Amino acid sequence: MLPCLILMSAIYSCVNTDNHPVKRDVSTDKISTDKQQTEKKPDVRQAANTAVEILQKAEVPVLCYHRISESAKGDYSVSPATFEAHMKVLADSGFQSVLPDQLYDYLVYNKALPEKPVMISFDDSRTEHVEIAAPVMERFGFKGVFFIMTITYNKKNYMTTDQIKQLSENGHTIGLHSWDHTMATKYKEENDWLQQVVNPKAKLEDITGKPVCYWAYPNGVYDHQAAMELSRYFKLSFILSNKCDSIQPLQTVRRMIVPELTPQGLLKSMKRTFFSE
Ligand SMILES: [Zn+2]
Repeated sequence: MLPCLILMSAIYSCVNTDNHPVKRDVSTDKISTDKQQTEKKPDVRQAANTAVEILQKAEVPVLCYHRISESAKGDYSVSPATFEAHMKVLADSGFQSVLPDQLYDYLVYNKALPEKPVMISFDDSRTEHVEIAAPVMERFGFKGVFFIMTITYNKKNYMTTDQIKQLSENGHTIGLHSWDHTMATKYKEENDWLQQVVNPKAKLEDITGKPVCYWAYPNGVYDHQAAMELSRYFKLSFILSNKCDSIQPLQTVRRMIVPELTPQGLLKSMKRTFFSE
């Protein structure tokens, strides 16, 4: 069993101290890059951007959907017709969906993105994401990111493990949204991290057969300590439209909750959230 376990952990490691681009100098709490390592190992990758450089880059709009339902009401819900109208206005306006791997390479290594990139994400693992949203996105040529709260596996109104695997196989990205939606600022003991991050991440990787390298904070709530700790496990972590962390911008990528908006209202709201200085 042991060689197999070692192999699995090697495959599924999203970040490690050898290649993680943004490092903290523990003594000064300052950011440094892996320049030295890159120089020692030419031809591996170009030098990674520093936190300051990442913060100076143009923000990519990231949308965050929750409920997609006729019956659900409130700021966290859109009707299926509205969701379809949102995808249509994005496509008609020339937006192209990007996935977190692309966003990471853009932020860290200045890799090019499509001219009008948008990331479309979903929190809380509801069945409607796979039954309503994914087929609509497919029609418009979009791929999305589905953040799974793993306590809901196979529960009524929540995705089955087979549906999660199917989304992954269809080219969408599966990310983690904690075990039971406890906010990351409340993980204090080692056991909290095991329960909310380490074990559910491994289980999701088992289901999809792929590394799970992205995290969405429950309720969008974070603090610097949580962002530091999450950088050990994830390439990017997503908050809501609050302010990002200046030391850990990769662990505090902003998103916008999408309520029931008209198509033009959606475009205006994206502009206000991501493109205004
Ligand atoms: Zn949530």
